[in-house]
Amino acid sequence: MTAQPAEILGVTQADWKTEDVSMLQDMATKWLEAEIAPRYEEFEKAEIFDRECWRRAGEAGLLGASAPEAYGGSGGSYAHESVIIEAISHVGVDGFGIGLHNAIVMPYIVHYGSEEQKKKWLPKMASGEMIGAIAMTEPGAGSDLQGIKTTARKDGNHYVINGSKTFITNGQLADLIIVVTKTDPAAGAKGTSLIIVETGEVEGFERGRNLDKVGLKSNDTSELFFNNVRVPTANLLGHEEGLGFIQLMQQLPQERLMIGAGAIAMIERAIALTTDYVKERKAFGRSIIEFQNTQFKLAELKTEATIGRTFYNYCTAEHLEGRLTPELASMAKLWLTDLQCKVMDECLQLHGGYGYMNEYPIARMWRDSRVQRIYGGTNEIMKLLIARSL
Ligand SMILES: Cc1cc2nc3c(=O)[nH]c(=O)nc-3n(C[C@H](O)[C@H](O)[C@H](O)COP(=O)(O)OP(=O)(O)OC[C@H]3O[C@@H](n4cnc5c(N)ncnc54)[C@H](O)[C@@H]3O)c2cc1C
Repeated sequence: MTAQPAEILGVTQADWKTEDVSMLQDMATKWLEAEIAPRYEEFEKAEIFDRECWRRAGEAGLLGASAPEAYGGSGGSYAHESVIIEAISHVGVDGFGIGLHNAIVMPYIVHYGSEEQKKKWLPKMASGEMIGAIAMTEPGAGSDLQGIKTTARKDGNHYVINGSKTFITNGQLADLIIVVTKTDPAAGAKGTSLIIVETGEVEGFERGRNLDKVGLKSNDTSELFFNNVRVPTANLLGHEEGLGFIQLMQQLPQERLMIGAGAIAMIERAIALTTDYVKERKAFGRSIIEFQNTQFKLAELKTEATIGRTFYNYCTAEHLEGRLTPELASMAKLWLTDLQCKVMDECLQLHGGYGYMNEYPIARMWRDSRVQRIYGGTNEIMKLLIARSL
């Protein structure tokens, strides 16, 4: 009998997983198993997803789960976004970039968009007609976001954007990009503004390489170039210039918690797959599970995974009550992604040589997990943020 990620731990139920949230998780899991898993290898090889999958995800109600119904969303909360992200990792299709689109990009428009902006973009994002990305990182500035150099100069009723971005998730496919710019380069963080670029509507925008990554192959990650890109001033997010840094600081905690959601779900899947494997694989005339080392290793991992799940559930409940502090979100990202990398490594080890073969899912999970300690703010930056609260 094959162990399922959801049942390998005894604590997957949480108060925030209400009936409708659980139903969405079941639906998302079944949909991903039927629609995405059979074609996932193809996308991993192509190093990009098929746009059609996004439209079908929209039809299935998997895009814009927490966006208001008035703008084409499902009117849910972070709980709904969380279970979609968890389903992606439980099914093992981690490169499908809808988590970023749903729980990172759309919330900026929901929270800071004008009525006109919400009506214009959210319905298309909820249907999958428009794919979203957010471009903060530049070749010369990642952790130090204040050091970005991309400028947006006002010219009548337009902004003229110049600069380059890199490592942008969904960058090859994106139709709508939230670009972090300096509208007043002399004003430091207070000169930062978020401006929306509709890639199909502008000149001077170029996508660079689809970057060749260690893992998460099917998720396109790109360089982007802005050469005198003119966008209407109506594309500014927020009622005035200079609010970008505050908007980022307000939204980054959810992004970090979301990374934790993927981490704990992948941890659960890895332990379930490894438990099945060690029961079947034999050495010295016995199943590998019969060696005490295997039992102790998996006992340790299951204990840590249970602690991780409990902590994630706590952080999510706090977020749903509006109490997720930046340091708590940073702790979730730091601890859960460190644990994820440790668990993937131990689980790969228990697979022996087969664990290093790409035909076994643990190999891909090991590769895919590494970046979790880097993006969304590195784990070193998480420690800095936590230390600020001391
Ligand atoms: C697959 C992938 C997808 C990504 N997707 C996106 C995206 O969609 N949008 C986006 O904007 N960005 C994205 N990123 C970028 C990501 O957020 C950055 O790579 C990350 O923030 C680190 O920045 P950096 O690469 O410039 O590293 P650096 O800032 O150069 O850091 C290098 C090392 O120095 C350490 N370091 C830096 N400053 C300090 C400090 N003050 N104290 C201690 N240590 C420090 C870091 O922790 C790290 O170990 C993505 C990256 C990857 C790899």
